[in-house]
Amino acid sequence: MDYLPIFRDVSERTVVVAGGGTVAARRCEIALRAGAFVKVFAEELGDDFRDIHEHPRLQHLPRCPRPDDFEGAALAYAACRSEEDDRRVAEMARAASVPVNVADRPELCDFIMPSIVDRSPMVVAVSSSGASPILARMIRAKLETMLPSAYGRLARFAGDFRDRVMARLKNPENRRRFWERTLDGPMASLVFAGDEQAAETLMERELEAAEAEERSGITGEVYLVGAGPGDPDLITFKALRLMQKADVVLYDRLIGDGILNLVRREAERIYVGKRPDDHTLPQESISEMLVRLAKEGKRVLRLKGGDPFIFGRGGEEIERLAEECIPFQVVPGVTAASGCSAYAGIPLTHRDHAQSCLFVTAHGRNGIVDLDWKQIVRPRQTVAVYMGLRILPELTDAFLAHGVDPDMPVAVVEKGTRPGQRVIVGTIADIAEKVREAGFNGPAMIIIGTVVTLRNKLSWYLPEESAGDVRPEGRFTGTL
Ligand code: SAH
Repeated sequence: MDYLPIFRDVSERTVVVAGGGTVAARRCEIALRAGAFVKVFAEELGDDFRDIHEHPRLQHLPRCPRPDDFEGAALAYAACRSEEDDRRVAEMARAASVPVNVADRPELCDFIMPSIVDRSPMVVAVSSSGASPILARMIRAKLETMLPSAYGRLARFAGDFRDRVMARLKNPENRRRFWERTLDGPMASLVFAGDEQAAETLMERELEAAEAEERSGITGEVYLVGAGPGDPDLITFKALRLMQKADVVLYDRLIGDGILNLVRREAERIYVGKRPDDHTLPQESISEMLVRLAKEGKRVLRLKGGDPFIFGRGGEEIERLAEECIPFQVVPGVTAASGCSAYAGIPLTHRDHAQSCLFVTAHGRNGIVDLDWKQIVRPRQTVAVYMGLRILPELTDAFLAHGVDPDMPVAVVEKGTRPGQRVIVGTIADIAEKVREAGFNGPAMIIIGTVVTLRNKLSWYLPEESAGDVRPEGRFTGTL
């Protein structure tokens, strides 16, 4: 983050504006809207001042600002005609310890101006940290359409209730839950419809119910959520909704920052990552932790890579919850095999190539010997292998030993759907060596079957970042 976003109270304080053009007029307007006294320094004020030039809190001084004009000011804006004037204003402001913004000169700014959506008292500010103000404006325009103007009314209504809720619900957790329920439910609809009387009656009823709930003791719940293979755009709406509600999140090594950043900012984060060779936390402890946190009344988000029920041990975790009668929800996610295949241009099934697709893990209690080879080496089938990277040489040897054509195509997709995705295509005979040379270190999905040849045709149409940087070589000609 390049700038710290904050909201500054300037009411009843002085804001200095230097300049008489359009930008200066906008700065004056916004400062007046925030309740400031505005001193604007300009020989004359342009047309854009017509709506505000008689505002009782606007004072026009037809001269250049002097150092003492900045004393005690809350903020200063410079939008002069010349760079030299802008610089002088910035220097004077800084000498008086007043934060200054200079239009279009980020190098002279102590703070920058966001694009805003004003639903006062609700205000949304958007900034690109100066990188692309137009993009920030486009996002603001989207938000404008998403936030009905009645949100301002809703915020005011909630503000009037705040003290009452604070006094009657002692537990902050319960207060938050109360607000989330009411601000997203029928009460909000009533305020939007303009029936504040009915909304108030409903609020009172909800508050009584919440008090009764508090008296009876609270129980939390657990959300077992699949976060997909890595690209945050692949999570579901339901996952996002629950991620935004959680009090605490337990996450794995496979969960990237892009996804963690979507979890409610205030949620406590607990890393429970496991590696095949380094069990940070045994499965039992994770299940126990889920139980303990839920019993403390928390909403616990158990975030898992891919789909929680596909090689995710999600089933084991909820077994414990069920034993303890703790409510839970399970949210499916895009599993790594689907994510990797889509982003690498390899369909898992195809009429001409494979009528079935098998998901297997090569990482069992006793390694690959556990696999049911008769089922695996069937013709017209794609095999997607999870957790197979480290034992790829043994895996490919085993395929060969069970009679698979050495030319059988194989793709290995590393960091599928994430920035830096890499794809290597080879055959069952040479893939292990190619992957070793490329220095893959996972996570990686191994896709075995003639569908891999379709990548030649399909991957060229994928955007560069999703096609990976290792292009396929040659075409498969062998048969099973
Ligand atoms: N529940 C997960 C799988 C967990 S097992 C799911 O449904 O996807 C972990 C294995 O998944 C890794 O060893 C790797 O084989 C695969 N995997 C997970 N994310 C991946 C990614 N972004 N790219 C490639 N493989 C991935």
